[in-house]
Amino acid sequence: MAIIACPACGEDEALEGTRSDAHTLDVECTACGAAWQRHTDRRCALCGSTDLKYTPRDVLERSRGNQHTPTGRIDAWACYSCGGRDVTGPHPEAGDPADLLGGDLREGWARHR
Ligand SMILES: [Zn+2]
Ligand SMILES: [Zn+2]
Repeated sequence: MAIIACPACGEDEALEGTRSDAHTLDVECTACGAAWQRHTDRRCALCGSTDLKYTPRDVLERSRGNQHTPTGRIDAWACYSCGGRDVTGPHPEAGDPADLLGGDLREGWARHR
């Protein structure tokens, strides 16, 4: 995580961030009242590339019987350069770049599990 500081007064602790979308953060300095937006870079944790593909994953929860009910969705990004999966998440997985170029990565993922 990059260190951010207030562009007006240099404060780097009394900052409040509100995520307004997947990669924009509204930051407010509570020391001087300055507010600005920060664009958070998505970057592959494995190779550092920013050439990523959005690959959201449905979260399935086992309910009664063998039914799987989608309960939510996790934002995940795959990397075109090295084929890594969930490369902005806490547990990136190495993969094959060819998997991203054809077909649906989410299907590939489902088969994988
Ligand atoms: Zn400030
Ligand atoms: Zn990569």
